[in-house]
Amino acid sequence: MSRATDVSTAAAELAGLLREAQSVVALTGAGISVPSGIPDFRTPGTGIWENVDPMEVATIQAFRSDPARFWSFYRPRFEALGEKTPNPAHEALVELEGWGLEAVITQNVDRLHRKAGSSRVIEVHGSIQTSSCTSCPGTWELDEVEALFDDDGIATCPSCMGYVKPDVVLFGEMLPERAMTDAAELATNADLMLCVGSSLEVYPVAGLPEITLASGGRLAIVTQGPTPYDDAADVRMNGDVVEDLEAVLEALRA
Ligand code: ZN
Repeated sequence: MSRATDVSTAAAELAGLLREAQSVVALTGAGISVPSGIPDFRTPGTGIWENVDPMEVATIQAFRSDPARFWSFYRPRFEALGEKTPNPAHEALVELEGWGLEAVITQNVDRLHRKAGSSRVIEVHGSIQTSSCTSCPGTWELDEVEALFDDDGIATCPSCMGYVKPDVVLFGEMLPERAMTDAAELATNADLMLCVGSSLEVYPVAGLPEITLASGGRLAIVTQGPTPYDDAADVRMNGDVVEDLEAVLEALRA
């Protein structure tokens, strides 16, 4: 079977699942933002992660012990991420709200689902949208953070001089409880979970498809590369995330 036939067959199957489903939830990861020019940090030798080990720099321990070094890594990444725009894969998930998609659960911190216009976004790893003081309730929008840096390159709270931290979940930090509760509830109630651009390997997010399956729901996976749920998925699309989702929309409109 040709690649084109593969895509259209899988897209038609997924369109069928979407038509049947009463409650659909999407679970997205880094792969959906790659077409927006945001490299997946697990891909070696790409962009901003090229010369740095995120496990060494983007940790809560690194933030506490050496905030200047942390920010020397994060500050340009913040600026770069802030300028990125949604791509047609993000937009496809907005359009899928017309076919029962209730919410997007995302591991991404780039806020591109919100920028695209998705109405309900659960950001289980937080977002670059805001940064907060670690010593007082102070909080700032992304475009206000640049003004907080002191001469050492550390974002500092103007009221209490505490360290200001981006509201993203760093390695070594707990995931936000409210977001995970919402995500688990959505996974339980979904009769279809559409996983897009995630290798579904990072727990606890990687446990969400299991919750949907255990509740009698189905899985569809649109992701390049293997996932632990490939055998459990009713539909598995493996190609370019934009092309695959556009093929699904085309099948739905037909
Ligand atoms: Zn403060």
